[in-house]
Amino acid sequence: MQPLSFESITIDEIELPLFKEKNIRAAVLRLDKIHPVISGNKWFKLEYYLEDSKASDKNHIITFGGAYSNHIVAAAAAGQLFGMKTTGIIRGEEPKELSHTLRQALDYEMKLFFLSRRDYRDKKIPFKIDNSMYFINEGGYGIKGAEGAGKILNCCEKENYSHIACAAGPATMMAGLVKASLPEQEIIGVSVLKNNAALENELTNLLSEEEQNKKFRLVHDYHFGGYAKYKPELIDCMNEFYRATGIPTDFVYTGKLLSGSLNLIKKDFFPPGSKLLLIHSGGLQGNLSLPKGTLIF
Ligand SMILES: *Cc1c(COP(=O)(O)O)cnc(C)c1O
Repeated sequence: MQPLSFESITIDEIELPLFKEKNIRAAVLRLDKIHPVISGNKWFKLEYYLEDSKASDKNHIITFGGAYSNHIVAAAAAGQLFGMKTTGIIRGEEPKELSHTLRQALDYEMKLFFLSRRDYRDKKIPFKIDNSMYFINEGGYGIKGAEGAGKILNCCEKENYSHIACAAGPATMMAGLVKASLPEQEIIGVSVLKNNAALENELTNLLSEEEQNKKFRLVHDYHFGGYAKYKPELIDCMNEFYRATGIPTDFVYTGKLLSGSLNLIKKDFFPPGSKLLLIHSGGLQGNLSLPKGTLIF
């Protein structure tokens, strides 16, 4: 497989008329450049789980996800890089044709098991569990995942920014950013799920009491219909941004982060003089499930 390239990460300063008008500086942290398939943030989230599994002499990673899960591919790739066996337990019956994501996971020699939605919800493991197995939650959710994600901010000079914004699924990455943030910084999470009332709790469960007093905010207005749903406005925004900056985004996560952030700027959410860092967490392979020609990149 293509190796991971942390040297390729860049911080791209973005200049758009809107930023000038509102007196805001903005930059994008390009974790998408680490690998074409493995989402930048998923990699960070896995690191401490892998260390822990090695330390406890377990060489078989078992994890969970849907047919389009960036986490599943990242775990499969990690297994291959670290010489560990991987098994993915996939939500839903086995489809006639596997998604691009799952085919990629198979290429990385992950073994796949398909569970009905009900069995998946009940976490019915379809094989015998033994001592070599190390279980990782869906999406890498958990404290170790958050601590790994906190290292994202080592890829930039974090003190340069007053606000840091990221896309939030179950918000493990966001929890990590809150952990790693400086006292005056605010972390903004753009939720990609519709009406996810549980999110606040999922986030704070990963934070210590002290960390819960840091500055952070979840915004729920930019899901565009829900997880992996989209609307023409979202696609237009992504295409326009690509035209202006040359930066591609994905429609499941980073496109919503982008659109949400631009809207917040328009609504004067950020005080003049703010310096905003957008975390480009990758996920670009997800765009392969859009009809051809939807995006200009
Ligand atoms: C999973 C993912 C996220 C969300 O991260 P969580 O920690 O699950 O909230 C954001 N961006 C991309 C590209 C992802 O794959």
